Amino acid sequence: MPRVAFTTLGCKVNQFETEIMEGLFKQRHYEVGPFDQPADVYVINTCSVTHLGERKSRQLIRRAARLNADAVIAVTGCYAQVSPEQVENIPGVNVIVGTKDRDKIVDLVEQAAFSHKKVNAVTDIMKMQEFEDIPLFAAPGRTRAFLKIQEGCTNYCTYCIIPYARGPLRSRPLGSIAGEARKLVKAGFKEIVLTGIHLGAYGRDFSGSVNLVDAVKTVLAVKELQRLRLGSLESVEVADELIDLMQQDGRLCRHLHLPLQAGDNQVLAAMNRHYTVAEFEALMEAIMNRIPDIAISTDIIVGFPGETEKMFANGLQVIDRLPFSRIHVFPYSRRSGTPAAAFAGQVSEEQKKQRAAAMSKLAEKKSLQYKQAYLGRTMEVLFESADGAAIDGLTVNYLRVYTSAAAVGEGKLQPMRLDRLYLDGIWGTVAD
Ligand code: SF4
Repeated sequence: MPRVAFTTLGCKVNQFETEIMEGLFKQRHYEVGPFDQPADVYVINTCSVTHLGERKSRQLIRRAARLNADAVIAVTGCYAQVSPEQVENIPGVNVIVGTKDRDKIVDLVEQAAFSHKKVNAVTDIMKMQEFEDIPLFAAPGRTRAFLKIQEGCTNYCTYCIIPYARGPLRSRPLGSIAGEARKLVKAGFKEIVLTGIHLGAYGRDFSGSVNLVDAVKTVLAVKELQRLRLGSLESVEVADELIDLMQQDGRLCRHLHLPLQAGDNQVLAAMNRHYTVAEFEALMEAIMNRIPDIAISTDIIVGFPGETEKMFANGLQVIDRLPFSRIHVFPYSRRSGTPAAAFAGQVSEEQKKQRAAAMSKLAEKKSLQYKQAYLGRTMEVLFESADGAAIDGLTVNYLRVYTSAAAVGEGKLQPMRLDRLYLDGIWGTVAD
């Protein structure tokens, strides 16, 4: 049986798409093995959001070539889509597939293997009009499954390469979402995570006849599903009805990831973000008034072109006063082909590093404060994976809880008393 190995960089959408491709290879009787072992085929699902993502992608391609010089190396994902020639020129690469036509990946790999010729299957993503509906062959034995319901973005934030890598908005029809959700639950998954590149824009390409709330209701209609979690959403797209649903149905997780990106209005405007700091704060307050124990996490970019020390200091103040549960900090990465790459006032690498360190320190403090507020409380935890003597899982508000593996089992929903801080989360004991 030929062996295929995968590695994935970047976001949850990429993780989901790797799972899809694993399924396609399994269907064709390939064995899926670890990436650090010799294999006949290596698939590198790349990321292009930052320079680091691209550098790591290149390193992984070279590692695969070292592990087996005769292997077929297939490179897919956003980096392959936006820079296909660059990828094609990396020694060892045999197949280049972008962010579409992944359903043909096995054929393309076999074509390259038999012809001993490079296959470059990247085409113009901007012409894509429909959601590429590739069914998932569920991997049993896991608790949480991703379900991609939307592709593409037309927001054109000035720093972001994604609209060029993923193309226009395409939504998955509700009927397909319902069928896939039922299949995942039947396969034993307890939690579904809805993902998309611009999730809040779900349905806009269907002339607005349906929206994200309809997609959420469609998945919640699967009665046996224990939890539904949402991927990243733009703050301006959080509908009241979505918060209503969170209040009404305990299975819809009380967790929203709302990227703020900057805590200064001038920087937000230069980023082409469609809200002000005051609007974001007001929304966050309104949500927290309705659901006090919701977790709201965010992303912040530091060192955007034109960001002065004063603007950065404004950002620190804003972040400090907002009750975020978790903050992901990114130094601005200059992506050629995006408007911001040509902006005046590029911030030096040294300054970006210093600002990222200061913002990360604040992020750590905020995350600690959030976890500490829950010590002593009892919350339900959906346990996922055991690692030696410990097992861990998540609460509805995205707190990671660890306990002794003997106390609970994988896939079990268990009320836990949250005792003390432990690793990146909290150590808990089974509640009476
Ligand atoms: S919303 Fe902005 S940051 Fe997010 S994918 Fe679209 S362009 Fe990029």
